[in-house]
Amino acid sequence: MGDNEYESSWRYIDYIEKIFRRNRELAMKIVNKINDLTDQIRRVYGEDHKIKIMNFCGTHEWTIVRYGIRSILPRMIELVAGPGCPVCVTPSYYIERLIEYSLEEKIVVYTFGDVYRLRSVKPVKGAYSLSEAKALGADVRIVEGFADAVRDSLGHKRESVFVGIGFETIAPGYARYILHNKIPNNMSFLSLVKLTPPAMFYSLEILQDKPTEPVIAGVIAPGHVSTIIGAKSWRPVVEHFNIPVVVSGFEPIDVLISIFYILKLYVRGEARLLIEYERAVSWDGDLSAQSYIYKVFEVRDDVWRGIGYIPKSGLRLREEYDKIDFLKRHGIKDLSPETWATDLSPGCRCAEIVLGKALPRDCPLFMRKCTPEKPYGPCMVSIEGTCSIWARYGSQEILEMRGVS
Ligand code: SF4
Repeated sequence: MGDNEYESSWRYIDYIEKIFRRNRELAMKIVNKINDLTDQIRRVYGEDHKIKIMNFCGTHEWTIVRYGIRSILPRMIELVAGPGCPVCVTPSYYIERLIEYSLEEKIVVYTFGDVYRLRSVKPVKGAYSLSEAKALGADVRIVEGFADAVRDSLGHKRESVFVGIGFETIAPGYARYILHNKIPNNMSFLSLVKLTPPAMFYSLEILQDKPTEPVIAGVIAPGHVSTIIGAKSWRPVVEHFNIPVVVSGFEPIDVLISIFYILKLYVRGEARLLIEYERAVSWDGDLSAQSYIYKVFEVRDDVWRGIGYIPKSGLRLREEYDKIDFLKRHGIKDLSPETWATDLSPGCRCAEIVLGKALPRDCPLFMRKCTPEKPYGPCMVSIEGTCSIWARYGSQEILEMRGVS
């Protein structure tokens, strides 16, 4: 994230805070309704009944932690985060190759600020991250977007690569540039784009396999991704797991309304798909953006860091774009199910955290060896990483651990 983006994100947070405060009355009304529903649930299922709701996306986790939403909900409800942070799930292998090519082949690497700090499992030439590679002399440039990288690479003749990370939201932007031949001859593209519905499926299957825990009663689905892929993409989740899914916006009120909807459907025993984020999301999504994506990329099984292969969960460039494909252009072998091995550093519990099986405070390294200033594991790097969110905006408990309470 560059300085301007950082500034504007803080202005946005300020704006959201004002809305939340203005709507405090509305927030309390929704919380009261949530309390009414949990009373009904308790009467039917007993005092100790627990409900888990998955908030799949890192931005939702941000809203939940930043605005203390867990603290105003009845204790019956447990909100668990999902793998909705692209930086957290980017395999170490690709970071290692980028370090290697930046140091050995002197390739210019264009990347977002969070990937710049993402730590690999193995050091390459003494560097664990692109920022460490830069300290050793590599030319790594932080950009705010693909367009910036393209513009910059036009200004020199050196071989360069753009690290194309993200979910479906960002993929049409990449595709548009590639489809319209806007990529300079000295630039290649490393596609690390991941698809969210297969990951949601996978996470829910894992969580439902643990009968000692309350099963997931519903899912808060990512609103931004859904603007592109459409709410209909979540229908298979509803049908397969027989649970409600609510496509939600990112303001605190949106999240509260989505929780209310899920509980209401739970009480009625209805598995339905609802769009809370109606101001941005349609049933079919953005058809033009979808067509851009599939003209340029093809779907394939992909690795999620610490988790392993998830079927049909990643996008790679189509064959006709081999020339700009970073891996093919440089003869680098892609990962395969045979070559992938667990890629979390010793002690890091990121895989469990992104699958909703553990919380950041369950990791003994949290705020000790692993901090936002010096991230050790991948969930501590990005603004959407659960550990990073908990560390930045977490509870009193975290402040106590930092010795500042
Ligand atoms: Fe991994 Fe750090 Fe989170 Fe622990 S605190 S799970 S080491 S990212």
